[in-house]
Amino acid sequence: MPVKCSSCKKAAILKRPKTGDALCKECFFSAFEEEVHHTITSAGLFTPGETIAVGASGGKDSTVLAYVLKLLNQRYNYNVQLILLSVDEGITGYRDDSLETVKRNQQQYDLPLKIVSYEELYGWTMDAIVKQIGLKNNCTFCGVFRRQALDRGAMILKVDKIVTGHNADDIAETVIMNVLRGDIARLRRCTAITTGMDGALPRCKPFKYTYEKEIVMYAYFKKLDYFSTECIYSPNAYRGFARAFIKDLEKIRPSAIIDIIHSGESLSVKKEVRMPVQGLCSRCGYMSSNPVCKACVLLEGLNRGLPRLGIGKEHKERRKLADKLAREESESTSSSAAVLGEMDDVTAQKSCGGSCSRQPVDSTTTDLKVSGVAGCEEEVKKLQLDRRKPTVDDIDF
Ligand code: SF4
Ligand code: ZN
Repeated sequence: MPVKCSSCKKAAILKRPKTGDALCKECFFSAFEEEVHHTITSAGLFTPGETIAVGASGGKDSTVLAYVLKLLNQRYNYNVQLILLSVDEGITGYRDDSLETVKRNQQQYDLPLKIVSYEELYGWTMDAIVKQIGLKNNCTFCGVFRRQALDRGAMILKVDKIVTGHNADDIAETVIMNVLRGDIARLRRCTAITTGMDGALPRCKPFKYTYEKEIVMYAYFKKLDYFSTECIYSPNAYRGFARAFIKDLEKIRPSAIIDIIHSGESLSVKKEVRMPVQGLCSRCGYMSSNPVCKACVLLEGLNRGLPRLGIGKEHKERRKLADKLAREESESTSSSAAVLGEMDDVTAQKSCGGSCSRQPVDSTTTDLKVSGVAGCEEEVKKLQLDRRKPTVDDIDF
């Protein structure tokens, strides 16, 4: 006997990964959209009249985010202006193709689009960086440069906020990674739905409580146009340990993802625990807990033909270079750099379009119970394969 939708009693076609409810397509769309709306309103993410940049990579998360925000903005009259903002890392055969998807989304959703490129901001494309440094540590450069590029693009657009497509799985993963690293400072802020309030540009995550599997299902059933090919420079050997761990937990207990986020939210740090002091990069004005931010050190290394200076935890030469840059900058009073907000590490790891975290093929992680809708499961499998991320160490300073 066909299973009935637990909401409207029509024939169900899927089982919600988050709740286990059997739902028809329409009731799933409605549940998905209402949850995002609830997240936005309960956290007070938007204020009428604001201009919001949607970080758009052409991947599934940001494509669904742009689609749903446009829809909710109209349905609930948020009265905000949405703009798509993309970063072109200069990766031939990958980002150029995914940007074509973003350009189509621009037409489909009738939203303005701004693309900022590494080449214009830093004078280097990822193609050129890989030519110099090879395929090791390339994601370090890419992640660090991207987190600033999005801010710079947003400042050019003079938007009030940036929203990104980070989902519940991403945040739970970051909580686990920060626990494993014992990084209290990041642990404290990685579950925040809005970060960068103390900088120039707040960043929000309207999908903070949205499961990745549901984003994939939503994109699939809505037939959204998104890009799911992996970056040609993504590291082949990387295994997302934290991610695999979370997927294993999810199999046993679907609420594990939300439980981990709630655990991170409930964490309190004693006042006497020393935290890194946030200052501003003396060279570019970006927020940094060091005299010169990592992007500036990496860029200087590239420009001097010493790209490895920016790599690794601590390096005598790198420290010397950073100190030298700081001295040079403090001697020069002509800096007109913009003050940029800091992007948290979830954003930095995730914003290359969800294609930086290679996962082992595991059919159980793709079990969406979508009987009769075989294509969806295929789609999830493909996306699971395509997701890659740089490690936390890759983007850490
Ligand atoms: Fe950049 Fe992501 Fe490609 Fe790494 S995998 S080079 S972070 S786009
Ligand atoms: Zn800097």
